Amino acid sequence: MRAKTVYEDCDILVVGGGMGGTGAAYESRYWGRDLKIVVAEKANIDRSGAVAQGLYAINCYMGTQWGENNPEDHVRYARNDLMGLVREDLAFDMARHVDSAVHKFEEWGLPFMRNPKTGRYQREGKWQIMIHGESYKPIVADAARKSADKIYNRIMVTHLLMDEKKPNRVGGAVGFNVRTGAFHVFRAKAVIVSAGGASHIFKPRSVGEGMGRTWYAPWSSGSAYALSIQAGAKMTQMENRIVLARFKDGYGPVGAYFLHLKTYTQNAYGKEYESNWYEDTKAMVGEYIDHHPVPTCLRNHALISEVKAGRGPIHMVTKEAFQDPHLEEVGWENFLGMTVSQAVVWASQDIDPKYINPELTTSEPYVMGSHATCSGAWCSGPEDLSPDEYQWGYNRMMTVEGLFGAGDAIGGTAHAFSSGSFTEGRLAAKAAVKYVKDLRNATMTVSDGQIDGFKKAVYKPLENYKVGRNEIVSGTVSPSYLLPIQGLQRLEKTMDEYVGGISVNYMTNDKLLARGIELLNIMEEDFEHLGAEDLHQLQRAWELKHRLLASQSVAQHTLYREETRWPGYYYRGDHMKLDDENWHCLTLSRRDPETGDWAMEKAPVYHIVD
Ligand SMILES: Cc1cc2nc3c(=O)[nH]c(=O)nc-3n(C[C@H](O)[C@H](O)[C@H](O)COP(=O)(O)OP(=O)(O)OC[C@H]3O[C@@H](n4cnc5c(N)ncnc54)[C@H](O)[C@@H]3O)c2cc1C
Repeated sequence: MRAKTVYEDCDILVVGGGMGGTGAAYESRYWGRDLKIVVAEKANIDRSGAVAQGLYAINCYMGTQWGENNPEDHVRYARNDLMGLVREDLAFDMARHVDSAVHKFEEWGLPFMRNPKTGRYQREGKWQIMIHGESYKPIVADAARKSADKIYNRIMVTHLLMDEKKPNRVGGAVGFNVRTGAFHVFRAKAVIVSAGGASHIFKPRSVGEGMGRTWYAPWSSGSAYALSIQAGAKMTQMENRIVLARFKDGYGPVGAYFLHLKTYTQNAYGKEYESNWYEDTKAMVGEYIDHHPVPTCLRNHALISEVKAGRGPIHMVTKEAFQDPHLEEVGWENFLGMTVSQAVVWASQDIDPKYINPELTTSEPYVMGSHATCSGAWCSGPEDLSPDEYQWGYNRMMTVEGLFGAGDAIGGTAHAFSSGSFTEGRLAAKAAVKYVKDLRNATMTVSDGQIDGFKKAVYKPLENYKVGRNEIVSGTVSPSYLLPIQGLQRLEKTMDEYVGGISVNYMTNDKLLARGIELLNIMEEDFEHLGAEDLHQLQRAWELKHRLLASQSVAQHTLYREETRWPGYYYRGDHMKLDDENWHCLTLSRRDPETGDWAMEKAPVYHIVD
């Protein structure tokens, strides 16, 4: 394809305009009045990212102004839920700033529910506050739009550019417009990657007609990880995938049900079941099972074990709560504001939760750094509280100079959610502005050769299709190319069967992982032959390539950590116990951009909060 090239030179480039990206754009302008700030987003920032459809709760709010929680409390909570392993410096840093971000959302027009008795934000749980959140994303997008010099919607960023004058320094990014096909080159002094987490790397429960429905946003294609990995950034905790107990088939969230409606679960025979698995879990993880609240993975473990024991399905008992008309309304509205499809599934399957207790199931695994797990890039922490090993200059800067991250992109910071991701965007932006200002007049070199090399690679799937299509007269199976959907299904199957997905009850071991890694490497070669019929399929092809890189990282990390740290998220059959003696640490990886070889290492966990 003879695509025209559009050049944009700027100081700060934000890749991905979701929660982290909008926060980054907003804060970049605050500290960098005279800087040029550009956002490149593959969809349209008004309705992009995991918050696209809206949310019913802001899951991370301290409420320090009312003495509800302090940042230290949140660090303890996240550490407990993650079985001891988080980056406490990053978690604390986010928690101490998150309330101010939430107050801005209200100032910008987001409707909050208030407790009529106290006048405070209506709590759903200890950390969650309830909102009328259908308009959440357009509201933060508006703040970003007013802050950035330019927002490029519909640009799928495929690669980061590197400075050729200084090794290991970022120089911008390239991508293509998914509507016009133009090639876009952004030369930037600093890049903030906030391109979201990864769904569709493991085979989903929803297949066939339901394939597009997953719990995490189906368009979260692991770009935040792939872009950083390609550039040689270190990653952390990529094995720490998340599995969620959700309403069956629609993946409807359960938070409001458990916390606000006070619904509870039982097995198919109407019995409480978590206590059945107490001893079994204790034998695996020791005293962690006695922690309060019980870590999410361990509650999953009980659910999975009960179903394996033949007493499934598990039901959410809604019949009692739904007798109260107010709670009934909240139950339905909860979905209508953020997961309409769950309401549609119930309607289509004759499930009225007032009379029938709906089924719960555990999802396929997802990878992300902002929700309840903490996979992502290894980044420098804040100057005032990070230990030396966590600190190399600028807050939220990765191990590649000038490359920052926020939200799902950043590892070690679990339970940030929407508000915490926005806050991380702000923190990354403040540091990125400082970085750009410290550069003063330093210039960087990004040659035409580098740009042309990426341009050729980006459009190759279109070329593969054009040439290979002549070899077949009908159908989709070609001797010369692989369609993105075929590649996606192969990736999902391999991850599912070898790296601990649903069809093996989240079980894997060293042998399976080693074979899985071989198959992923073969796929990497085969994906050079992806064929894209049009620009839409070209986007699918690049999303798939990004998913593959994220998957390789997950498999490498899962092989490296020789223990079962999070039963209920995945199991290492050859190491079925949590092993604090050897593995109370964070795992790090780096893929050599030249050779593609992975190097693994351990990093200490510092408990900076008692
Ligand atoms: C179903 C669901 C329910 C949730 N419920 C809640 C809740 O109740 N409360 C809460 O606080 N949080 C909730 N969250 C979590 C919250 O949505 C995330 O924590 C937050 O959106 C993460 O922010 P982010 O910026 O990292 O990613 P996102 O907000 O997903 O933004 C990523 C952006 O990057 C763009 N992008 C991706 N790849 C590329 C590329 N290659 N080039 C250019 N752009 C790209 C995407 O289009 C997107 O705009 C929920 C998430 C989901 C999926």
